[in-house]
Amino acid sequence: QSKLEKSFYVEYKSGLDEQYMRRLQIIESLKGAVADQELNLVLQPKINCQTGSVVGAEVLLRWQSDKLGFVGPDEFIPLAEQSGAITELTNWVCRESTKLLQSWHEQGRTLKLSINLSTVDLLSDALPLLFEQLIIDFPELPKLLVLEITESAVMKDPEKAIARLETLKRLGFSISIDDYGTGHSSLAQLRRLPVEELKVDRAFVQHLSEESKDKSIVRSTIHLAHELGLRVVAEGVENEDSWRVLQSMHCDELQGYFFSKPLPISGFIEYLNNHETN
Ligand code: C2E
Ligand code: CA
Ligand code: CA
Ligand code: CA
Repeated sequence: QSKLEKSFYVEYKSGLDEQYMRRLQIIESLKGAVADQELNLVLQPKINCQTGSVVGAEVLLRWQSDKLGFVGPDEFIPLAEQSGAITELTNWVCRESTKLLQSWHEQGRTLKLSINLSTVDLLSDALPLLFEQLIIDFPELPKLLVLEITESAVMKDPEKAIARLETLKRLGFSISIDDYGTGHSSLAQLRRLPVEELKVDRAFVQHLSEESKDKSIVRSTIHLAHELGLRVVAEGVENEDSWRVLQSMHCDELQGYFFSKPLPISGFIEYLNNHETN
């Protein structure tokens, strides 16, 4: 080994150590995140594509760690899955989302919320038990809560995942396939799943206003999904042109920065009050 190679190796290795240390710190700090009230929900409005009115929101998790500062979900969710902490996080998200839906219901506001479930959540026995408990307190819950799962979450253990999805469906929940188009399954394969909604990944939506192949992909996806009786949501709508294009394709619902970034709960209520009358 030359001197250069050696120093390169040391640098490379210490880079790895740093990454490794960061991961360990995140896993360690996540343990107290719920108890220490470091978590927050933000809500991204979901919009009726034809009318532009608000139909509900997607619930997204935010973590302001006392020790590490702000850590994004793309970084901590995979680690929470690995360490098992995800079960407690999802439990918290489910309870908080139920409280919100219940208070809106009592105010006579009909809004849906969508939450994200990971592979671990989908396969764990804790989830149906938790939902059964929440339904006892709030029987309307399954009609108002949409469960988003990715196709990769299903493909880890398709048999068990399908059985579990069927259990959740029997409880009355509707299920949505998230990030559609980024995995390897065809719509025909996904048809075996008890799902009601398909979310077209933002990678296909972001460039819809320009001339691109994405247009044909999205158009035919929406068409086929409708043939199969699924509702279609497009995520990542960033400008008005994309909205118009999706409208002409008869997409059902939209999400994206053009309408709103994910908002704290108070900000979402404000958004609602400003948009309800149209
Ligand atoms: P996702 O489920 O695909 O959520 C959509 C992500 O796209 C969100 O990022 C959202 O802020 C972002 N987004 C929304 N509109 C636009 C847009 O117009 N343009 C662009 N460029 N981005 C947009 P976020 O909040 O950082 O979440 C990232 C991922 O972390 C989520 O992807 C989801 O996989 C995961 N995640 C977030 N919260 C939870 C949770 O409570 N549980 C689980 N299991 N995963 C979560
Ligand atoms: Ca999602
Ligand atoms: Ca998504
Ligand atoms: Ca995603």
